Amino acid sequence: MKNNQHLDTLHTPLGKRGLYDSVCFCNRCGMCAPLCPAYQNAPQESNSPRGRNQALRGVLEGKLKPRQVRAELLELLTSCTLCGRCQAVCPGQIPTAQHVLELRRTLQARLLPTLLFKLLRLRGTAPRLFSYLVHTGLWMRRLQGWSVLMYLPGFAWLKHLNKLLPARTPRPFKMSNQTRPTFIYLPSLEAQFFLPDIAQSAYQLLTKKHRVAVWENTACGLFEFVYGDLSRARRQLRALITRHQKTGKAKLPLVTDSIDVYHFLTQAPQLFEGYPTWQQKAQNLAACTRYIADYLPKKPAALKTISNPVLLMTSALFNNQSSAQEKSAQILRSLFKKNFVECGYKEPQVVPAGYGFIKGSRANAYNLQAVRTVARQQVQTVVVLSGLAALELGLSLRQFYPTARVCHIAKLNG
Ligand code: SF4
Ligand code: SF4
Repeated sequence: MKNNQHLDTLHTPLGKRGLYDSVCFCNRCGMCAPLCPAYQNAPQESNSPRGRNQALRGVLEGKLKPRQVRAELLELLTSCTLCGRCQAVCPGQIPTAQHVLELRRTLQARLLPTLLFKLLRLRGTAPRLFSYLVHTGLWMRRLQGWSVLMYLPGFAWLKHLNKLLPARTPRPFKMSNQTRPTFIYLPSLEAQFFLPDIAQSAYQLLTKKHRVAVWENTACGLFEFVYGDLSRARRQLRALITRHQKTGKAKLPLVTDSIDVYHFLTQAPQLFEGYPTWQQKAQNLAACTRYIADYLPKKPAALKTISNPVLLMTSALFNNQSSAQEKSAQILRSLFKKNFVECGYKEPQVVPAGYGFIKGSRANAYNLQAVRTVARQQVQTVVVLSGLAALELGLSLRQFYPTARVCHIAKLNG
């Protein structure tokens, strides 16, 4: 690749732009600030999307020296949830979340605890070892082994993980690969290891009408894209694309239960700018990528067990207005009618990705914002679109608003 550590060209809704051009398109109008959850939480200019864009512009123009203002830049990076709400309302569709990721890469900021980062990276480099370690870890948790482990140096993140996971982690759901598949199911990390009920619902939904190949414990590049480096993200994407070609001549729909994975894969072609063959293949993969809500029946089995009213938390990595999110909202609108409340753009939203593990000062405040939204609407069921959102919001609700519960949209199927 021309540039291993940065995207040469960003694919924005208004066309392809180089990074510097993209940043310069920000005309500092400030329309994005009122809708940015980080800015709502701490209304300072540096915390607004405009402030983030100007900081990156300063770095690119050499006016800001990252070494001299590293602490301030890190604060700016860790407070952005990458939700993409700013882009959705920006007249120039400026992809501020992508700019923030570029700044992360410039600073080579490792935002996760070192041991957790290394462990999660194993999913891409040594999936069998990763699976073994996760299963051993969960087994130790059942035997109360974490109560000792979490006090060892480097393991403090286990405390948060312990709170995040259900009190008793259900046994994994066994999925089998069917011959001559017509569909591919790519379970997310959370659905496969921590919330197997999501994987079970998704798998049963798909196998009702299709022959399914299950790609368990498969890294798609999202983790490396957000926390690691671009060359590894590209490598994992290329492996996924090659496997997709071998499994069904690059024609089979690839279904995910995570809206974040969906957004990442549909935006994957921008990682291969300058390499037309791979970009074409990535475009094909993006065209084959589907979100699980597309396969919900008109009258899902679990409908009667869902408490009303129902709220959809629309926050997700990189994109707040994708067709998959809109389709999910439409499904809930038609199923729950007046009892459905969509979390609008003027409301604080669920933090999209692992903020409990990022060493930022805002994690708790963001989680409280999300709970406040739920409480204000007095909802009993909050529908989310990813396992990570289910885990994070589930913990916040257990702590602060236990009358409400979280339900992944695939679980409407029972
Ligand atoms: S990111 Fe968009 S909405 Fe925000 S200040 Fe820049 S141009 Fe205006
Ligand atoms: S991506 Fe979200 S948190 Fe980050 S600047 Fe935009 S609106 Fe704010």
